[in-house]
Amino acid sequence: MTTALQAQRAAHQRWMYHTREPGVSDALFEAQIKLLGEDWSREQEKYQAAVAAYTAAKVYVRDRFRKEVLYHEEPADIEVTWDAKWTKKERAEVQEGIEAWRLIVGRQRMDGEQVHVDKLANGKRAHYWNDIVHLAADDLRNGEVVVHEFGHWVEQRNDNTAALIQAEYDRRTAGWPLVPMGGNYRTDEKTREDKWAERYMGVAYPQARAHEVFSMGIQMIWAMPDRFLAKDEESWRITWDVLHTGPHVLERGE
Ligand SMILES: [Zn+2]
Repeated sequence: MTTALQAQRAAHQRWMYHTREPGVSDALFEAQIKLLGEDWSREQEKYQAAVAAYTAAKVYVRDRFRKEVLYHEEPADIEVTWDAKWTKKERAEVQEGIEAWRLIVGRQRMDGEQVHVDKLANGKRAHYWNDIVHLAADDLRNGEVVVHEFGHWVEQRNDNTAALIQAEYDRRTAGWPLVPMGGNYRTDEKTREDKWAERYMGVAYPQARAHEVFSMGIQMIWAMPDRFLAKDEESWRITWDVLHTGPHVLERGE
């Protein structure tokens, strides 16, 4: 079996034949190939070890960030009912996302609320409406989709949270017109263009008192806090403010 490293090395050697200097004897050239090939191979191994160490360090930092900074001491206290169509394994995967969400949101924002988790056919897009989170088993993305959709539930269920999101969204998007997302998005999915980490973050549904800025934010601050911060510090701060500052008294929505 050819490893990726061997394939890269072969490509490198082919490139060396192409760039052979005129007047270099065969013996010298073969010696150069051998030497450069070995050096290059060692450099590649060092590079791959560095990438592996960096990736492991990032996961470690992200996990510490979650535990020490992002998660609340008291998780949200909620009651979940389940569609009978979920298998035990799928349900466990959704449950993991819910546990993360409970810690991110905390009890001061969600306490005693009830939600139903509906199972969509594979290939259908997840969404939230009126205390029902609709998810498809083939698109949970390690809990990211669960955290996102449950984020919509926080906004709809909690007046203080919704008011804070609205104020932050208005401040952030002042002066920007609403334009359709286009592509495969529904026609009511309109965004305000700005320097969002993701264009979809500008989407607002005025009639439903709902936005994507917070559900995208809660998803990204949990799944990729470093990338999110580097790309869009403003949305990172909005998400943070909603989760960790502002009025904490729970007031139910309609
Ligand atoms: Zn959404």
